Amino acid sequence: MTRFLIVGPPGAGKGTQSARLTDTFGIPAIATGDIFRANIKNQTELGQQVKAIIDAGDYVPDSLTNDLVAHRLLEEDAVDGFLLDGYPRTLDQLGFLDGVLAKSDTALDAVIQLVVDPNEVVSRLLKRAHEEGRTDDTEDTIRHRQSLYKRETAPLIAVYKDRGLVIEIDALGEVDEVASRIAAALADRGIALPDAATK
Ligand code: AMP
Repeated sequence: MTRFLIVGPPGAGKGTQSARLTDTFGIPAIATGDIFRANIKNQTELGQQVKAIIDAGDYVPDSLTNDLVAHRLLEEDAVDGFLLDGYPRTLDQLGFLDGVLAKSDTALDAVIQLVVDPNEVVSRLLKRAHEEGRTDDTEDTIRHRQSLYKRETAPLIAVYKDRGLVIEIDALGEVDEVASRIAAALADRGIALPDAATK
């Protein structure tokens, strides 16, 4: 029964840490960015609708994104837990998610906030663009996504802070180091790693 959200600006390492957490806890990652990219790659109708938006570094409309997540959360593997990565990103999405979770009498257990200096991550993102061929990782688009994050997404953290859910993690450093910080912070809150993972 583990319901996490991982949040942080572009390039904070959400995807990498999210893969670690889903392995450890045996829960699926629900990463809206990944779902959109898969749809673009497979040239689905959704993919065609969102390609230009994503390439420009803008946010996909809330209605589309909410709908996608609502369906994904109903799938069998997400019933006992999940890790949301990159959703919610707006206050509208946050409210929608609250509603979806309330319907199944559940709620988030923790919000893992990855904290990084935006300037430090631009070079990291440019490197990723090169390695993964992401078309939304040019320097201009990165700066645009960073400012959108600050304006639209950072305010969500205050809401979750009020609910006592936020775990702040310094996300600069080696992947293992950051993963250990997350594990320690979760343990501090009484969310222990499953036995097999701590051996
Ligand atoms: P990410 O992989 O999380 O960095 O997402 C890549 C891109 O997908 C973002 O820059 C947005 O264009 C779009 N996207 C992903 N998640 C959302 C969301 N929750 N709301 C709106 N747009 C999103």
